[in-house]
Amino acid sequence: FEAKPGKHNKNVERRLDNLGAASVLFYQNPIEMVSAQGAWMHAADGKRYLDFYNNVPCLGHCHPRVVAAVSKQIATLNVHTRYLVSVVDDYLESLKATLPDSLSNVVMTCSGSEANDLAMRLAENASGGTGFIVTEDAYHGNTSLVTTVSPSIIKQGSLPDNVVAIPAPSSAIYGDDIAGGFAAKVAEAVETLEQRGIKVAALLVDTIFSSDGIYSEPRGFLKQAVNVVRDAGGVFIADEVQPGFARMGETFWGFDFHGLTPDIVTMGKPMGNGFPMAAVATRPDYLESFCADVGYFNTFGGNPVAAAAGQAVLDTIQQDNLQENARKMGAYLKQQLQFMAKQSSFIADVRGQGLFLGIDIGERDNKHIPDPGKTRQIINGLKHAGVLIGAAGKYGATLKLRPLLTLTRYEADFFLDALSKQV
Ligand code: PMP
Repeated sequence: FEAKPGKHNKNVERRLDNLGAASVLFYQNPIEMVSAQGAWMHAADGKRYLDFYNNVPCLGHCHPRVVAAVSKQIATLNVHTRYLVSVVDDYLESLKATLPDSLSNVVMTCSGSEANDLAMRLAENASGGTGFIVTEDAYHGNTSLVTTVSPSIIKQGSLPDNVVAIPAPSSAIYGDDIAGGFAAKVAEAVETLEQRGIKVAALLVDTIFSSDGIYSEPRGFLKQAVNVVRDAGGVFIADEVQPGFARMGETFWGFDFHGLTPDIVTMGKPMGNGFPMAAVATRPDYLESFCADVGYFNTFGGNPVAAAAGQAVLDTIQQDNLQENARKMGAYLKQQLQFMAKQSSFIADVRGQGLFLGIDIGERDNKHIPDPGKTRQIINGLKHAGVLIGAAGKYGATLKLRPLLTLTRYEADFFLDALSKQV
């Protein structure tokens, strides 16, 4: 559903002239947005769209509490972390209260990519290895180092020798024993690295496997794989950029859903409700050892305005009971979608947890054969009906739903009604 470079109209032409080949626009006829409020985005032509795609503004677009917190802080003080500013430490303490006690140090960055870049370097330092195990369609970010562990964006060539990609934890691959099958693949990957003379540094996964196609079941399946990598001397990095901050409903973090305590956690996207901020949480001994060799400084990471935004996000999630809303509305959405799947010629599977759901779309005659064309058609049809969603997975045939944590019954039904006309 991404628009191919081509000059559609004056604004598209202007964008392509400005961003060049790096430009990525959604839809054949890209939407010009002018404003957004809550779950709704407003286009220049007057049309409004329900945002079911974007997990960044988790509380709602332009949330008044975040707007107020950011405005107040930017009018008061904004500076790097080399001074003591209480709003920063207040925020870090609030954030740490959501994390396992062992992850008691947090390094703030500006993007998830920077967070994963640092996490990989910490893992190398802690393990003495350089090998990474990731999933086949993973995305972890855009730095030179992190691109090597992001097979989903590598268009030409293969992964470097120190990276092994394994199939996503799907029942289509592993059958009924996802935990055992996935752990066996991790063990194989450790061996492959060893044969290349490389020691494993980490298993790095997005704990909801969002770009692989969204895999959360059976709850706890990741444990076995993490044990394998730890037994081999590697560490476990939980990339929480996608599932983190209450979206799982049952739990605040994706790793919690699996009953795991990671060695390193990275986070970003919804952390500032749109204010760019991200972080790495880790064990103090990892940072001590790393910082003894090389320093780390980030000019904008952990600035007071980011801390104010982050604090407003945590406070609102808690005070408005948004994790419970994600659980309750996620269960409703999933149940309705499972019901729709039974009647549909195209919906092969409905997966996910809380307000992070995936819907596999297949061919009319055999819905178990993935159909990326039909998926694009549905996404475009939903756009026409005023709903924004995206696609993920190996075949680009999994509809990816990430509505706001504030999702209401009206918004859920608006989406369900629009989707039912497409499938
Ligand atoms: N990890 C995951 C799982 C992501 O989905 C992304 C962004 N899509 C990143 C890391 C990178 O985050 P950022 O774009 O903030 O650098």
